[in-house]
Amino acid sequence: MTKKERALEVIKRLKKEYPDSTCTLDYDEAWKLLISVRLAAQCTDERVNKIVPRLYEKYPTPADIAKAPVEDIEAIVAPCGLGHSKARDIKKCMTMLIEEFDGKVPDDMDALLSLPGVGRKSANLILGDIFHKPAIVTDTHCIRLSNRIGLVKGEKDPYKVEMALKKIVPPEEGNDLCHHLVDHGRAVCSARTAPKCDICCLNDVCMKKI
Ligand code: SF4
Repeated sequence: MTKKERALEVIKRLKKEYPDSTCTLDYDEAWKLLISVRLAAQCTDERVNKIVPRLYEKYPTPADIAKAPVEDIEAIVAPCGLGHSKARDIKKCMTMLIEEFDGKVPDDMDALLSLPGVGRKSANLILGDIFHKPAIVTDTHCIRLSNRIGLVKGEKDPYKVEMALKKIVPPEEGNDLCHHLVDHGRAVCSARTAPKCDICCLNDVCMKKI
């Protein structure tokens, strides 16, 4: 089986196993996803989802957040950890959105990467989930599972994993595959416990590089 054949089979099976996979960060507008991905660094999505309503209650628009004292933002987002740097990035990011992008989240990688606090992983999430463009989000689950399954070989660097997966995953499938890998990583192939290969839908196609 080639890596591409394995990737296609994995995509097919995970789609069937997790038909409702989606981003686990709550948002109803693109700029809110920008804020949530920044807050999610070294924090759980669950906690971020609990914290952000307080922020939007006090500051309902990007312009409000851009004008807010950074100390106020920090007081609200502190439970997500790294409160000072996250508050600073969020304020700067919303300011730049207003001043340089007419208040709208841009839909290309370079523009997204120019925003404070936005890295490649976050930019890919925005491109895929908001704009439905080809995107590979190389988070910890994606990197771990891609290696274990045998889609990449001994590669831990997020950018290199992204480039390797781009060669074997059809562009229109990348975004959903990453959501599926998150669900599969949490349910069956965890980093914290031994992988449950005996009940795994990928058992006979996975190289089990554990
Ligand atoms: S077969 Fe095992 S190692 Fe492979 S994806 Fe499933 S649980 Fe993980």
